[in-house]
Amino acid sequence: MGRKFFVGGNWKCNGTIEEVKKIVTMLNEAEVPSEDVVEVVVSPPFVFLPLVKNLLRSDFQIAAQNCWVRKGGAFTGEVSAEMLLNLGVTWVILGHSERRLIMNESNEFVGDKVAYALSVGLKVIACVGETLEQRESGSTMSVVAAQTNAIADRISNWSNVVIAYEPVWAIGTGKVATPAQAQEVHSELRKWLKDNVGAEVAASTCIIYGGSVNGSNCKVLAAEPDVDGFLVGGASLKPEFIDIIKAAT
Ligand code: PEP
Repeated sequence: MGRKFFVGGNWKCNGTIEEVKKIVTMLNEAEVPSEDVVEVVVSPPFVFLPLVKNLLRSDFQIAAQNCWVRKGGAFTGEVSAEMLLNLGVTWVILGHSERRLIMNESNEFVGDKVAYALSVGLKVIACVGETLEQRESGSTMSVVAAQTNAIADRISNWSNVVIAYEPVWAIGTGKVATPAQAQEVHSELRKWLKDNVGAEVAASTCIIYGGSVNGSNCKVLAAEPDVDGFLVGGASLKPEFIDIIKAAT
C-alpha cells in the first residue's frame, strides 16, 4: 500500500490566543497540495484545541500533544483520550522525547498509552529516537527498536499509527540529521517492522522525521525513500511550515 506524505506541526507549550489565531489564519490562507497528496496535522496545546478546531480549515487535522494512559477519572491534571474524541480531535502525539526524558515516561508506559488511545479510536503519532550519548555509543537502533517493540507488544493494528523518528540531539537544536542519517534509521526501522510485525505493516506505516526541520532542509530530507514526512516543532509556528507541507511536491 502506498504511503501518503504526512506533516505534523508540534506547537509544544507555546502561544497566546492572539498568536494561535494568527497561525491558524496563516494556515487557512495557504495554498497547499490536496489531502490526497499530503496529510497535515497540527498540534496546539490542550487549552487551545477547541479554538483551533473551530477556526482551522477542514482539510487539516488536529492532534493533542499527550493524553492519559487509561479511561479518565481521578487523575488530577490529566486529559483523557475520550475527552479528545469528544472535542473532535482525531490525533494524539505520544512518547515525545520531552515527555520521555523530562516526565520520565518509560517505553512501557508510552506503549500502554498508544494501545489505549488506539483502542478508543484516536490516531497516534508515536515518537521514538536516541540521545546523542546513545548515538555516539552505537546504540541508536537498539534504542529505537526497544521503543518500537514496547508498542508492537501492545497493539495488533498499525493502520492508525505514524512513527516519528526524532533523534533527541536534533530536536530544537538546529542540528538536523543529514538525509543519509535519517534514511539509515528509517530504513532499519522499516526492516525491524518487517521482521517483527509483518511485511504489510512495514510497507504501509508512515515513518516521519523530526528534529530541526525547516523550510530550507525539508526538500532534501523528503527526497529519501523512507522519509514519509515530518514532525516539525519550532518551524511549525512560522510561515515556512507551508514550505515544509509542500516538501514532497
Ligand atoms: C519536535 O518537538 O517534535 C521537533 C521536531 O522540534 P524541532 O522541529 O523544533 O526540532
